[in-house]
Amino acid sequence: MPQAKRVISILGATGSIGQSTLDVIARHPDRYEVFAVSGATQITKLVEIAEQFAPRYVVVLQEANALELREQLKARKVQAEVLVGADALIEIATAAEIDTVMAAIVGAAGMPATLAAAKAGKRVLLANKETLVLAGKLFMDAVIQSGAELLPIDSEHNAIYQSLPVDFRQHPYQSSLAQAGIEKLLLTASGGPFRTRSLAELADITPAEAIKHPNWSMGRKISVDSASLMNKGLEVIEAHWLFNAPVDQIEVVVHPQSVIHSMVQYRDGSVIAQLGSPDMRTPIAYGLAYPERIAAGVKPLDLFAIARLDFEAPDLQRFPCLGLAYSAIRHGGAAPAVLNAANEVAVEYFLAGKIRFTQIPELIEASLSAHADLASSSLEELLYADQCTRLSAQRLAKDWSFKVSC
Ligand code: NAD
Ligand code: MG
Repeated sequence: MPQAKRVISILGATGSIGQSTLDVIARHPDRYEVFAVSGATQITKLVEIAEQFAPRYVVVLQEANALELREQLKARKVQAEVLVGADALIEIATAAEIDTVMAAIVGAAGMPATLAAAKAGKRVLLANKETLVLAGKLFMDAVIQSGAELLPIDSEHNAIYQSLPVDFRQHPYQSSLAQAGIEKLLLTASGGPFRTRSLAELADITPAEAIKHPNWSMGRKISVDSASLMNKGLEVIEAHWLFNAPVDQIEVVVHPQSVIHSMVQYRDGSVIAQLGSPDMRTPIAYGLAYPERIAAGVKPLDLFAIARLDFEAPDLQRFPCLGLAYSAIRHGGAAPAVLNAANEVAVEYFLAGKIRFTQIPELIEASLSAHADLASSSLEELLYADQCTRLSAQRLAKDWSFKVSC
């Protein structure tokens, strides 16, 4: 009997994860149907996606983009309906017609629709880690209450998920590491493009250098996060929520080859790891097909070509962002939301050439000192902390950018 197709909305379809998702879907037209896609401003890409995948809806951020998109779709005789704005993202993430949402918008902007998908009980393929950093508790509560199926797409968390016992995998965020005989989650990190640079050299690196990751091809924001090790910090917080893991049991291991995507260390001495070529289509295919396995177009791992695997401890002196993330999740409350918002502002200013790479952690530290104790029990309070942090971090970064250019 033919199986029913999974019907999917892809939030952030024009980005790196969105494109990899569409690549996997295109390999399995018998299994997947694209119901809706979104993109911020990349009209040409959205037209191409609509032509190839025939979604019912295409969502953009602004009315001006929608006008242009409608014209181009009409010119190419593509039927999709164009919707606009944050509410439309929530509509496509919760539509009754779909069962699966790929949450691949970058930054806190992705949180409302990702949370809505969880509340609606969908299968949520979670790439947007910022949702968990900003609103981890609320998001996990929504998943538990609605019975949504949450599958981590971030390669490290997907690796940990694959390395967990089957029982734990059913409800990871309600299980206990101790009861499952797990001592540690070992989160691997490539170390980024500046792993071997001195602190003095880090002050002068350029945005172009920072977005050139040695192993992975990714969007600009996560590439800078990888270079500063903030990405690993965000992932520690992500792992804390996804796997109900005490922060002290999450250890970061720098592994420059990015072949081991993460590991689970058990009480009996066993360490279970997931390995593969560094290609996001593997975790995406895993999430799309779970519990089955489907072809993802990924190059098989050639261990003879790789020849060796190296490991080292992270250097928190040169990469203070990782330490700041640990402090934020230990502090709890609004601190992770503040960390995330300040980092988004810092990365934006760094990419615009307005602050130095080494000022990213300085801006985050200043923001944490100012706002970590803001109220955080409701979504409104967390969004207030997010906004407050952005405004003050922007003011500070503008002040600093003046100094940099002098
Ligand atoms: P990207 O910059 O390539 O794509 C981001 C997508 O979000 C685009 O479709 C863009 O149009 C959309 N977008 C941007 N701003 C928006 C806004 N304000 N409102 C609505 N849509 C907006 O980013 P990416 O590398 O694909 O990363 C997406 C998410 O996945 C991030 O949270 C990232 O941390 C996570 N992730 C990415 C990778 C990777 O390999 N790229 C790996 C693990 C996790
Ligand atoms: Mg990752």
